[in-house]
Amino acid sequence: MAQVGVQVEESTQGSGSPTAVELDDTGFADFVLAGTRVSGEFRCADCGYGAVVQRELPQCPMCAGTIWESRLPRANRIVA
Ligand SMILES: [Zn+2]
Repeated sequence: MAQVGVQVEESTQGSGSPTAVELDDTGFADFVLAGTRVSGEFRCADCGYGAVVQRELPQCPMCAGTIWESRLPRANRIVA
């Protein structure tokens, strides 16, 4: 017990808001990585380039970014 690591605390009782987003620093947007199978409208998190994706998120053609922001409250994720 000599090591102190980073621990994920699950003592978030009381907020009452379920969180299913991996990157939730904005609180309203759903960020999806390139390569994820999705369907919907997305916007590049870096440069704001918008794209309609129906299969797999590509790299951003403008800035080669790999993080997309869903433009809808809920993205329709295709579970393969
Ligand atoms: Zn971009």
